[in-house]
Amino acid sequence: MTGDILTLNAGSSSIKFAVFAPEHPDKTARITGKIAGIGGAPVFTAQDRTGTALPAGPLDALDPSSSHENLVALLLEWLEQQLAGQPLGIVGHRVVHGGRTFGQPVRITDAILDELETLVPLAPLHQPHNLSAIHAVANWRPDLTQIACFDTGFHRTQHRLATLFALPRALSDEGVIRYGFHGLSYDYMARVLPEQIGAKADGRVIVAHLGNGASMCAMQNRKSVATSMGFTALDGLMMGRRCGALDPGVVLYLLQSKGMDAAQIETLLYKNSGLLGVSGVSNNMKVLEDSDAPTAREAIDLYAYRAASTLAGLVPALGGLDALVFTAGIGENSSCIRRAICDRLQWLGIKIDAGANDVNAIKISTETSAVDVLVLPTNEEAVIADACRTLMNAPSAQTPQPHESPDS
Ligand code: ADP
Repeated sequence: MTGDILTLNAGSSSIKFAVFAPEHPDKTARITGKIAGIGGAPVFTAQDRTGTALPAGPLDALDPSSSHENLVALLLEWLEQQLAGQPLGIVGHRVVHGGRTFGQPVRITDAILDELETLVPLAPLHQPHNLSAIHAVANWRPDLTQIACFDTGFHRTQHRLATLFALPRALSDEGVIRYGFHGLSYDYMARVLPEQIGAKADGRVIVAHLGNGASMCAMQNRKSVATSMGFTALDGLMMGRRCGALDPGVVLYLLQSKGMDAAQIETLLYKNSGLLGVSGVSNNMKVLEDSDAPTAREAIDLYAYRAASTLAGLVPALGGLDALVFTAGIGENSSCIRRAICDRLQWLGIKIDAGANDVNAIKISTETSAVDVLVLPTNEEAVIADACRTLMNAPSAQTPQPHESPDS
């Protein structure tokens, strides 16, 4: 394979990107960066392999009304200049929902794009942006190979029972099941865990991906056996703006007694709930930690309480716990949240070393803790880049795999 690999992760309020050399294995990107604050005041930042900031050039002053597709187009122009004539070989995208059809990374065609479009209602906050990034690249360079890597893919190893809702069978048969998300992050953890904890990595592990979106994954033999998100990325943990698990009766109440329509409820559950809704202050954990508002304190307490409860609910899928990993923005940086969650889990034999926790050390459990507790940075981009290499070098791997639950 020739040409660099570009990874694109187009979320609701940010577009993250990385450029990797085609050689394998190379986890370190040549260039990384993002456009953050989309929808408000978008800001572009980028750095090279050494961490040195790269000039934003024409991306210095971004129009707040720019669409995701336009921003990706500007980013591609900027990249072309940075790469100074060196060709890109392939673009790999994070795509949140692969539905029942797509488990493995797949080369994007018009037919596949049409199918991914049908999954927009299942991930209304993410899927449209993922797809608009694909369109922007196709408009820029129609011949460039693009692949989609799915956040749902990693969970395809789950037992059928872990994927079922207790709904009428006809609904499960048509795909109303638990899919799970953040799969690229969990895949990365599954790859790097042996370097940290050796054979224990194949034991009973829970990874807590705590970012703006948040979920947990129970793994055994480094494969997903259960996860907290479900049919959509709304389920499970309390998040920055999303409510997490909710009595479905609340949705009926909003419809029937409050007279809200579907669009209003979608906005309430996806954008105005979670840390933001409970605190009334911010969706940003760091801002809440620095706030004196009692509602900010309560939002943090609820976040930790619900995270500990969710984690405890995943333990039966494993029959115990050997290791717990915290990752993503909050998991990697908030010692206060990690401590609050772990304090509620002492009955599992979890013991935290306060000093190690305070400095975000890789291992934050004590020597006598029954469970290894780790803080590891995630790298979804490296997983996408690896998928690009694999697909470029093994064309037969491009066929989409139909949904099959191995234990069904
Ligand atoms: P995304 O899901 O958008 O990729 P991130 O993984 O970057 O989000 O996580 C963003 C969250 O991490 C925000 O709530 C932010 O406040 C939180 N965060 C980042 N650094 C810190 C910190 N030092 N202390 C507490 N929270 C932090």
